[in-house]
Amino acid sequence: MVECKEILELLSELIDGELEHGLEAEILEHLGHCECCSPFIHTFKRTVTLCRSIETIDVPEEVHEEFWQVIRVEIRKNR
Ligand SMILES: [Zn+2]
Repeated sequence: MVECKEILELLSELIDGELEHGLEAEILEHLGHCECCSPFIHTFKRTVTLCRSIETIDVPEEVHEEFWQVIRVEIRKNR
């Protein structure tokens, strides 16, 4: 089982599409069921879509930064 803290550590790799397929599927399943993680699943999905759709545009750094700011806020709320 993947735990919430592991998910948070793996999110950036997940966004970059660097995780092996099995692990990615496990994380996505966790995000779909876990109440702790559900608050930011929407943001996560939006960010993945953004990151993958703007590869040819010059702003991925900003998108990453915006994403992590949101995630940090959500993590604090859930503690
Ligand atoms: Zn979780």
